[in-house]
Amino acid sequence: MTDPITSASSAPSTDPGPSDRGVSDRGVSDRGASLLRARGRWEALDATTRRALEDRASTVDATVRDRTRAIIEDVRRRGDDALREMARDYDRVSLHTLDVPRAEWDDALTRLDPMLRRALERAARNIAAVHRDFLPVTTRSTPEPGITVVRRPDPLGRVGLYAPGGRAAYPSSLLMGAIPARVAGVGEIIVCSPPGPDGRPPDVVLAAAALANVDRVFALGGAGAIAAMALGTASVPSVDRIMGPGNAYVAEAKLQLVSSVAIDAPAGPSELLVLADDSANTEADADANADTIAREMLAQAEHDPDAAVLAVIVSEERVSSLAMRVEAALSTQLASAPRADVIRAALAARGGVVQVSSLEQGITFANRWAAEHLLLLVGDAVRDRTLAALRNVGTVFVGASSSVAFGDYMTGANHVLPTAGAARSYSGLSTLDFVRWTTWQEVTPAAAAMLAPDVACFADAEGLPAHAAAARAWVNASQSESGHASGSASGSASGPGVDGTARSGDTHRRFARPVYDDVPLYDPKRAPVALDLTDNTNLWGMPPAAERTWRDMPVTQVTRYPSLYAAELKTALASYVGTTPDRLVTGCGSDDILDSAMRAFGEPGGEPGSVVAGSEPSFAMIPIFARMNGLRYVGVTERADGQPDLEALLAVRPRILYLCSPNNPTGALLSRELLERAVREVPGVVFLDEAYAEFAGVSAVDLAQRVDNLLVIRTMSKAFGLAGLRVGYAIGAPALVRDVEKSRGPYKLNAMAEQAALAALRQDLPWVEEHVALAVTNRDRLAQALSARGFSPLPSHANYVCVPVDHAVAVGQALRARGVAARPFEALPHVGDTLRISVGPWPLLEQFLAAFDDAVREVNG
Ligand code: PMP
Repeated sequence: MTDPITSASSAPSTDPGPSDRGVSDRGVSDRGASLLRARGRWEALDATTRRALEDRASTVDATVRDRTRAIIEDVRRRGDDALREMARDYDRVSLHTLDVPRAEWDDALTRLDPMLRRALERAARNIAAVHRDFLPVTTRSTPEPGITVVRRPDPLGRVGLYAPGGRAAYPSSLLMGAIPARVAGVGEIIVCSPPGPDGRPPDVVLAAAALANVDRVFALGGAGAIAAMALGTASVPSVDRIMGPGNAYVAEAKLQLVSSVAIDAPAGPSELLVLADDSANTEADADANADTIAREMLAQAEHDPDAAVLAVIVSEERVSSLAMRVEAALSTQLASAPRADVIRAALAARGGVVQVSSLEQGITFANRWAAEHLLLLVGDAVRDRTLAALRNVGTVFVGASSSVAFGDYMTGANHVLPTAGAARSYSGLSTLDFVRWTTWQEVTPAAAAMLAPDVACFADAEGLPAHAAAARAWVNASQSESGHASGSASGSASGPGVDGTARSGDTHRRFARPVYDDVPLYDPKRAPVALDLTDNTNLWGMPPAAERTWRDMPVTQVTRYPSLYAAELKTALASYVGTTPDRLVTGCGSDDILDSAMRAFGEPGGEPGSVVAGSEPSFAMIPIFARMNGLRYVGVTERADGQPDLEALLAVRPRILYLCSPNNPTGALLSRELLERAVREVPGVVFLDEAYAEFAGVSAVDLAQRVDNLLVIRTMSKAFGLAGLRVGYAIGAPALVRDVEKSRGPYKLNAMAEQAALAALRQDLPWVEEHVALAVTNRDRLAQALSARGFSPLPSHANYVCVPVDHAVAVGQALRARGVAARPFEALPHVGDTLRISVGPWPLLEQFLAAFDDAVREVNG
């Protein structure tokens, strides 16, 4: 997609020089019947033909070079005056202001054909999503204790994007530059694009600028625009980096200004290399493959007569039948191609269908050729291996339906890619191009003392005594720090504690990841109390068969390892929830499942692959598990109706979306419609925490069996009364479940827990049902009792009641003084302070109500 824009026709009036390329001066191939420059076995081709295909570097015309130099000098000396004069001379317009007001871009967007606008908006969304996922991240390194080195990506302050006009006005290219810049956090994005006869850049460019939300647009084209952005004039601010394709003068101006401003890799004519093997089983498949190859070759060839399109066919046949089919398909398709002239010229100059005998040869060829686009059409058995071996390529399209056209416009990948073999050392445009790295380093006094002798020795050897002195100044640092002499502080090389004594600072040294310093140990504040209604467990106790099994547990259950991955329990749980064991994973409580699953699906430190989003308020461990796994937690306040704010949650494009139903602490049930939408639209995995599902009688296990990105997480801690045994489980697609299993390890569930849980599932289901029903009755009774006292408990579908109470923390303390504990929450959104009360046998709740009346009277009068 970079190519047409480099051709001189891209901005004819701005181009001060004669056209150096054109369709008409490239004739149709003179090689007999073939349309192609090269056909047959690659090794058998003559050297000139091979060179024509391999050597794609373009040369710069001396006139272009000289005239560009003059333009740059003129802009340097006369600034805006020079720019206005160029607009008059080359673009035949007289410009009062170079700046195009935003209202005009907005108008252009409004005028845009609605279908095109929808396509542009979709492309913009996908580019933003992909580039957000690829954002560079801060990394921190600790090579030795006490030394910290951090590298942080900082967005560039201001970048300039060039957008050609004329036939080469491509809104897609402007989006490909501006959106990654915006996503990377660039401070200001300016766009230069040549004015048309009305003195304004083309409508499509203005519309794309509005859509990408750039900051300023200037009606400026050619080398003058590049000089203005690099050097700055009264109207045009100087930028830190210039990107975007343009004609030969634009490319040359960037090269000449490279000492003043960073630029992008030079863009050349479009390229496609198809690497295909003859693995098709049927004639029809072989024909379909040949049609695909020909279609893709034509699509890239129509860009430019200088485009290079090459199919490399891996075949052991002397003459590959696939190669012959491709040639036939090319001529059939060419007959009805609207841009046949351009395509014919490209095929004759740099088109080929060549054969190699092995996949290895094909890969070696592709890595040497370093194509801008590579379409990979090989058999499934070798696909992954081939993809892994392809290194020097702008981007690879895998499989027949992955047309290059999708990548050019819509997949969200960047279509600004290295050409002419530059893919050997350059990558496609990305957010990395819009940041620079700041590193910072910190050495603690103790570490300084340990480094000092080696650094001083190094500096002395290099004859830099002041450096040595700067290091030696810290030799005694850890002495003064702690008041104790340390081994290396006195110059000896002893390491920490080698003499058997604790070295200074040893007790304070930190080895944990830095995030462990920021997060306090979670404390559910469960001090012993006569009536504990804080943890939503089963207050009727343990189901009878489970209890018997647990009491009579044979000693071998303890002396030997438990069953691998709790296989037997998986089968029993699967039949309890109505699924199959391959869709179920167990863990040490659902806490463990949540933690293991975050480890499995989040990318530590990899913004935004690292984002865990959760509706708030909800289960307090989620932000903690996220952070401890190196992930970033984003909490989004729920809507006033108690449902998650799905728009806002999806907007952070989470890798993991945590939802809880019934929600802890509110008791609200998640709407099924929202859940289904979340599962459809989230870019990652939805964790649906159903710790309290039995009390609601509603579950999404059925959905988890139909989709590939929903993990329903359950526990035996609540309805089953086994919180102390720690049995959690999750249901999801087999692949999801396997990944969690990898993360949790083979023996997470202890043998006693497994046996007791098995007994409960086999014999205690009537007990569980009965007590769930009792919990539901008593919950509603408690809610009524609270309503009768003038409170407004939130409708609950769980085994607790969450009731707004003024000064809930103080009321909680007053309750505790009366031997009763309920869980206070401060300032919950929309409802304020609340108290969450676990439900149990009615006499306990009566006891609670009596203490509650007293406590509220004491605190709130
Ligand atoms: N999810 C929610 C919503 C919870 O309230 C709890 C515990 N209170 C858990 C998960 C963890 O439960 P366990 O680890 O006991 O299975």
